[in-house]
Amino acid sequence: MSDCLFCKICEGKIPATITYRDEDVVAFKDIGPKAPLHELVIPTRHIGSLAETTAADAALLGKLLIVASQQARAAGFADSGFRVVMNAGPDAGQSVAHVHLHLLAGRALGWPPG
Ligand code: AMP
Ligand code: ZN
Repeated sequence: MSDCLFCKICEGKIPATITYRDEDVVAFKDIGPKAPLHELVIPTRHIGSLAETTAADAALLGKLLIVASQQARAAGFADSGFRVVMNAGPDAGQSVAHVHLHLLAGRALGWPPG
C-alpha cells in the first residue's frame, strides 16, 4: 500500500534498522524501544490488522512467530525469556495499520499489560 509506513520500510523507502528479511517477513528495530530488545516482525504483504486475517494467512502468521523466536534466540534471550505482542484495533493501541508483532526482551516484563 503506497501510504503505509511499514510497507515503505519493507520497500526501503523509509530507513529502518532491518534485522531480518526474507520474501515473506521483515524484522526491524522499533523506533521507540520499550525494552532492551524491541523489534517489530511484519509480513511484507500489507495486512491492516490481525482482525482482517483468515485461515489463508495461517502460515504467514505462524512464520512471524517463528522469526520472532529466532530473533530472540539470536539476541541471547531464549532462556531468560521474551514476549511477543500483537495489538489489534484502537482499544489495544494499534497505531500502525500494518500487521506487526512486537518482540520484547531484556528486562522483567510486567503482567498484565496496561
Ligand atoms: P502499535 O502501537 O502496536 O501499532 O506499534 C507500532 C510501533 O511502531 C510502535 O512501537 C512504534 O514505536 C513503532 N514505530 C513507528 N514508526 C516507526 C518507524 N519509522 N520505525 C520503527 N518503528 C516505528
Ligand atoms: Zn502496509
